[in-house]
Amino acid sequence: MLGKIGLEEHFSIPETKEIFWWYKDIADVFTARIEDLTKSRIEQMDEYGMDMMILSLNSPAIQGLYNKKEAVDVAKKANDTMAESIAKYPNRFRGFAAVPLQDVDAAIVELNRAVKDLGCVGVLVNGFSQIDTEDNCKYMDEPMFRPFWAELEKLDVPFYLHPRSSMPRNLGMIEGHPWLQGAVWMFGVETATHAMRLLCSGVFDEYPNLKLLLGHLGEMIPFSIYRSQFRISKTNRGVPAKRPLTEYMLKNVYYTTSGHFHTSAMQHVMTDFGVDRVLFATDYPFEEVSDACNWFDSCEINDNDRLKIGRTNAIDLFKLKL
Ligand code: ZN
Repeated sequence: MLGKIGLEEHFSIPETKEIFWWYKDIADVFTARIEDLTKSRIEQMDEYGMDMMILSLNSPAIQGLYNKKEAVDVAKKANDTMAESIAKYPNRFRGFAAVPLQDVDAAIVELNRAVKDLGCVGVLVNGFSQIDTEDNCKYMDEPMFRPFWAELEKLDVPFYLHPRSSMPRNLGMIEGHPWLQGAVWMFGVETATHAMRLLCSGVFDEYPNLKLLLGHLGEMIPFSIYRSQFRISKTNRGVPAKRPLTEYMLKNVYYTTSGHFHTSAMQHVMTDFGVDRVLFATDYPFEEVSDACNWFDSCEINDNDRLKIGRTNAIDLFKLKL
């Protein structure tokens, strides 16, 4: 399919560079690919029918900069760098803003600058934010972030909750099994737990028009949410959310195909939550554009659904003028 728009397409700047240990053997190649926002990235997009990438930083980037001033400065620099590339290739790139949630007031200022001045079409946050000290981790359901959610709803731009590695203190269950870190398993566990905290928190009651994007076909939640809701409906356990969690999944949440190129898993999300809520993404350069596109272009869905997931849902969600 030509004209695809990808939603989870990463870049980094030197200040956010982080090579996961499992990429150490290809660190140089990986760095060149993730820092490149020029012709060679676009040539690859052309080869596989991608019209546009909606760019975002690598993980954890800003969320791991626990010094507030550094987080504010690097977020600005990253957003400016991204905006320069978007200005240079306006038909090929758009961007999710990075925000320094270590300082909520500063994050709101940067969010407004990024959306209104730089033209960012949403925000991408890499999981919990470390604040002041390495050990002080704050998840997005914390009350301190409510003013940020209010601003996001006012601006009417989507929020992409992206994985990051769990804190070492939460990795005890895989001790001795390091291969389960990252995209193999623990990114999903970490991000699904974060998203469940959000769904249960009542934030979607307070701000009912929020739009939450989850990658990797919903970080495993679409498969398990009906069981979770069934138990909550029997014994509430003090869940603050006023509505069934499945309602937020149908009304507030969108699902991208990043890094999860499996047709029956996508069809499950389409069936339970609607084709209008599913959007194409690759997870480049952690995944290959070729793998994502070759799978998506030939997977067994009808052409109308392919057009929606591959392109027009993104145009509608981000109000893109293409
Ligand atoms: Zn990603």
